[in-house]
Amino acid sequence: MRRKKNPPIPPLSKGGEGGLRDLGEFGLIKRISKRSRIRDSSVMVGIGDDAAVITPPSPPLNKGGMGGVAPLLITTDSLVEDVHFRRDSPPEALGWKALAVNISDIAAMGGMPKHYLLSLSVPEGISVDYLDRLFAGMTDAARRHGLSLIGGDTTSSPDRIYISVTVIGEASKNILLRKGAKAGDQIFVTGTLGDSALGLRMLEESGVGSWELGVKDLKLKTIINRHLRPVPRVKEGILLANSGTITSMIDISDGLLADLGHICEESKVGATVWADKIPLSKGFKSLSDRFGGIDLALSGGEDYELLFTVNGKEVKNFLSEAKGVKSTHIGEITKGKGVRVVGKDGQLHIPQRSGYEHFKG
Ligand code: ADP
Ligand code: MG
Repeated sequence: MRRKKNPPIPPLSKGGEGGLRDLGEFGLIKRISKRSRIRDSSVMVGIGDDAAVITPPSPPLNKGGMGGVAPLLITTDSLVEDVHFRRDSPPEALGWKALAVNISDIAAMGGMPKHYLLSLSVPEGISVDYLDRLFAGMTDAARRHGLSLIGGDTTSSPDRIYISVTVIGEASKNILLRKGAKAGDQIFVTGTLGDSALGLRMLEESGVGSWELGVKDLKLKTIINRHLRPVPRVKEGILLANSGTITSMIDISDGLLADLGHICEESKVGATVWADKIPLSKGFKSLSDRFGGIDLALSGGEDYELLFTVNGKEVKNFLSEAKGVKSTHIGEITKGKGVRVVGKDGQLHIPQRSGYEHFKG
């Protein structure tokens, strides 16, 4: 888009009461959503889930009507320098992650990612080599997941790098939403939790953007890589959607408790999580004590694992039908509101924080 001359400068907000710090990321999204309107019946799911769902336009009549055309899934996410990454982190990892986090939102709907658009805003001081490396990481992720780049936008920026990616995917027969969990449903999660947050803490502590080249310890390397190069669970998402036993799903970007909170809010239910059942990697168990241990796994973001609920009456069927999905049973959906965590002794566990929210930290 063409640059406008002399854009008006908005009044400064103090960020206090009535400001963005009070409203928070989710308050702001609600405010935007309330002011917008769905103007077309092709929108099956709009603002509020991991991806929007759109019915595809009918093919020309002579090609045989609507039969067999899957709905489209569309999602977008940005990475902003000094918010999501530092300039000294490896650009290949940055490129990988910018696409992977979007692919993860398609996986969270049980869909297959297909195409992507890339919008880049970069200061002129950035070297072409840096951008080549960033793009190499992104095309690596695209190749592994079978995506084609179909467009985007490129602009200059005064000081920071902004990377915004949009991914378009194809829905499976069952589209899994955040809405749909019922009291009595059982909560499961793929993989292990907390590694990405622990990797970030370790990078922050070391004062550099990446240890990856210098790190010899395999456990440490794996943990840091889970932060730098998350692997979206596409195959698992599709298997789960096809199992027919899943009632809701989300990917873990903000943290287990925050994202389970999103499922509860959309489904109008509560949840109990069993702290001692949270799946933790060996590396996490041996290295996380200094950084809060289990609390980091409960509220640390960016794991990009899938969190889902299984119909309470179908848990046995689920376990036999979704064998290809490595997952752990971590709790259950309850009546009421909110997410509570209980320890092995049945006592309520209050974690130090619940998850990440922009403007609130
Ligand atoms: P995720 O973490 O899965 O990417 P987000 O928390 O970023 O989801 O967003 C939650 C929902 O709000 C999504 O449906 C997203 O499309 C929507 N959303 C976020 N920001 C905006 C915005 N500025 N305008 C419209 N919709 C938005
Ligand atoms: Mg998501």
